[in-house]
Amino acid sequence: MKTITLGSTGITTPQNAFGALPVQRVNMETAVEILHRAYDGGMTFFDTARAYSDSEEKIGEAFTGFTGRDGFPSREKIYIATKSTATSPDQLKADLETSLRNLRTDYIDIYQLHCVKQCYRPGDGTGLYETLLEAKAQGKIRHIGITAHKIGIAEEIAESGLYETLQFPFSYLASERDLALVEKCRKNNVGFIAMKGLSGGLLTNAVACMAFMSQYPVLPIWGIQRMSELEQWLAFFKEPPAMTAELEAIIKKDRDELLGEFCRGCGYCSPCSVGITINQCARMSQMIRRAPSEAWLTPHWQEEMLKIERCVDCGACLKRCPYELNIPTLLRKNLVDYKEILAGKKI
Ligand code: SF4
Ligand code: SF4
Repeated sequence: MKTITLGSTGITTPQNAFGALPVQRVNMETAVEILHRAYDGGMTFFDTARAYSDSEEKIGEAFTGFTGRDGFPSREKIYIATKSTATSPDQLKADLETSLRNLRTDYIDIYQLHCVKQCYRPGDGTGLYETLLEAKAQGKIRHIGITAHKIGIAEEIAESGLYETLQFPFSYLASERDLALVEKCRKNNVGFIAMKGLSGGLLTNAVACMAFMSQYPVLPIWGIQRMSELEQWLAFFKEPPAMTAELEAIIKKDRDELLGEFCRGCGYCSPCSVGITINQCARMSQMIRRAPSEAWLTPHWQEEMLKIERCVDCGACLKRCPYELNIPTLLRKNLVDYKEILAGKKI
């Protein structure tokens, strides 16, 4: 397994890291078991966020719970990155204190501004960057990072010289511009943390995903909530997959099918004013063809899909989608397709 050094942070970790958003969906005992196994299996980098409900607390419990165990890693052997969506200095300070308490640590390795809509700079009037510098000077955070979903903002961040890491969606569906962003980060010594390596569940071939990532100077954080998922990533410590002609063919097929305007299932657009489950319904056409389709044809999902007819084009979701998708149009396209599948006209 290759290691990655994240830009100017000096943090060096195997190119196979833990995304802790999904552990909020399992109970504490299971989460702790999974996190312990991840460390034992070779992972040393764990990414969480204030916004992931009790994910930070689970990491705190897991790694404090190591105390007294043979082979307990000292705090320095684990890297913890967390994030805040704060938009004011007071909120940011409060979030940081909560994260430190939840994680049961006195410092955070990388503290990230979460899903930003602008590249925060010193003197921009928000006071956010100054607050980060203060926290760094106090030793509460070691490095300043940021996460973004919009390519233009990500490019500005990569060139700003202000952030040591950038977290951005990156998978084998990446565009030329995404690949250029990775290169820009490398040149500017900004560590690239790759989120959504499975593109919100649309990509299902872990070997192809890992082989793709290993070609770039990026750190993938795989979202993990089950031991079986974890084992699939841990297996790569023993046998890191190399890109082969067969994997290239799988990637090409997926790219041909999925490129263009597609919903990543991130959920940032919610809530819908009339209760449509946008993050599933706007990508139903792909999900139904890529998973066993019966699961998406149940009365529950038929009812959910029919809610699309209630869309009043209020535009509330449009303002929130980081990928600038035309959500009502996408939903309606998915509904037409879904009805045809239900009627047995196609799959
Ligand atoms: S435009 Fe339609 S889908 Fe979007 S929030 Fe409004 S009602 Fe919901
Ligand atoms: S429509 Fe946009 S914001 Fe909503 S789930 Fe899909 S990609 Fe995410």
